[in-house]
Amino acid sequence: MTRTPAVVWFKRDLRVEDHAALCAAAEEAEGAPLVPLYIIEPDLWQQPDASLRHWRYLQGALAELQQTLAQHGAPLVIRRDGAVDVLAALREALGPFRLYSHEETGNGWSFRRDLAVAEWCCAQGIVWQEFPSHGVVRRLKSRDGWASLREQRMAAPPLRAPAFTGIDELHSDALPDAPSPALARMVIGDVQAGGRREALRTLESFLKERGRRYMQTISRPGVSARHCSRLSAHIAYGALSVREVEQATKAKIRSLSGNPDPEAAAFARNLAAFLSRLAWRCHFVQKLEQQPEIEYRCMHPAFEGLRESQFREDFFDAWAQGRTGYPLVDACMRSLHENGWLTFRMRAMVVSFASYHLWLDWRQTAPFLATLFTDYEPGIHYAQFQMQSGVTGINAVRMYNPIKQSLEQDPHGRFIRRFVPELAQVPDAFLHEPWRLDALPADYPRPIVAHEPAIRQAREALARCFRQDGFADEARRVRRQLGSRARPANRRPRTARTAEAQLRLDL
Ligand SMILES: Cc1cc2nc3c(=O)[nH]c(=O)nc-3n(C[C@H](O)[C@H](O)[C@H](O)COP(=O)(O)OP(=O)(O)OC[C@H]3O[C@@H](n4cnc5c(N)ncnc54)[C@H](O)[C@@H]3O)c2cc1C
Repeated sequence: MTRTPAVVWFKRDLRVEDHAALCAAAEEAEGAPLVPLYIIEPDLWQQPDASLRHWRYLQGALAELQQTLAQHGAPLVIRRDGAVDVLAALREALGPFRLYSHEETGNGWSFRRDLAVAEWCCAQGIVWQEFPSHGVVRRLKSRDGWASLREQRMAAPPLRAPAFTGIDELHSDALPDAPSPALARMVIGDVQAGGRREALRTLESFLKERGRRYMQTISRPGVSARHCSRLSAHIAYGALSVREVEQATKAKIRSLSGNPDPEAAAFARNLAAFLSRLAWRCHFVQKLEQQPEIEYRCMHPAFEGLRESQFREDFFDAWAQGRTGYPLVDACMRSLHENGWLTFRMRAMVVSFASYHLWLDWRQTAPFLATLFTDYEPGIHYAQFQMQSGVTGINAVRMYNPIKQSLEQDPHGRFIRRFVPELAQVPDAFLHEPWRLDALPADYPRPIVAHEPAIRQAREALARCFRQDGFADEARRVRRQLGSRARPANRRPRTARTAEAQLRLDL
């Protein structure tokens, strides 16, 4: 036990409830002051995946956290500089301190920054204690058993906000309107309101009512925005912990059990499907934790070099701006510019279109979509991009047909008409394939590529990778390292033949 001041570095954990680092710091400080710290790091905000939209969410969340911490007696200290420089300045002001934070599984930049901070702490004799985030296990030896480790964490009671005392005289920088001059010029649409209060309201409305139609609407653009939980940004920035969400959901399921109303049973099934997705979240972030290179390199090396040299700027621009000539793809991309959220199926479809139809390298498209998503979470994002681009070697390859998706998920074109006003007057019969009209509406482009030949070429190119020597051995290595253990261990190993069969099946 010590009387040394404690510095709690808030990262993607903007709450005081269920905050292991804060609890440990308060307990070990034993009456010594506690400094809650948030660092606005200029370099971070210059990375290609940074966006003013992320900052807008954070602005709200940080303002609320400031108020909450002030009520607890320790105002949040905000500093704008590199993390090492900020910590060095605090070392000057406070003398030796102990540093507490959650483990962060972020992008490559934050990984390197954490290494630099660890080195600085070591040189200064400062102890930096990091605490696990959600279900992600650092230094995991094997994926076997990971799911039960996560289960144990999720079952433990959430931590109550502790009592602590702060220091008044430390200066705090104001929250800027933008974290960098470049981002100040960025044009963004609406942003989901950030912070704990809004997160709790969102969770409550989902568990009370909105979640009833969760699975029924989850793939449909437009209506899914109401019936999906919409908790992704709140979890990504840590306004809620996954454990809090999971336990609240399980409590709701328990309250529904025994209710003879079939609607209650259906609601419980929807919530069970939601719980699976919370587990997927940890599963995906665990991949990046174990292998940070998946932000830059294909999980399976056979796919390196597949698309890079064929990158077409004009294709990228058309996709990014929602001008591909495929109405649902364009509506999805334009909706992202407007409000920063899309349901899973539509995210998968726009990435599949970019990666297969337009043959764009995922390393160019992933940072761009990261800037549009309010809920950008590197662990989910890069692993999903690799899956939807067919470069993991261990997942079924799904090439979405944008016309079929359009007919199935937006049959009356409500979503399309809302975001692609050029097509507002086109009758339903032509809306999903407006090029079949005698005359396309003014200002709406012809399809940028033809569906069938583009997909055929993509299949052939992937099949050539599957046939490379050693493909199956390498796929087995990837599965051992990063694969889910949800499927039976004796599942048939992927070979070029099974991989190709899977490719055909999913078309
Ligand atoms: C290419 C691509 C990129 C994606 N990038 C992100 C991202 O940066 N951040 C992000 O939070 N999600 C990402 N997702 C996953 C998913 O689309 C979103 O989590 C979901 O749409 C968010 O809305 P929601 O909170 O209402 O989700 P819900 O359906 O209500 O799900 C609840 C929570 O479970 C998690 N979750 C849901 N689906 C998945 C999934 N397929 N894989 C892993 N976790 C999941 C999320 O934390 C989500 O908040 C991506 C999906 C794809 C296909």
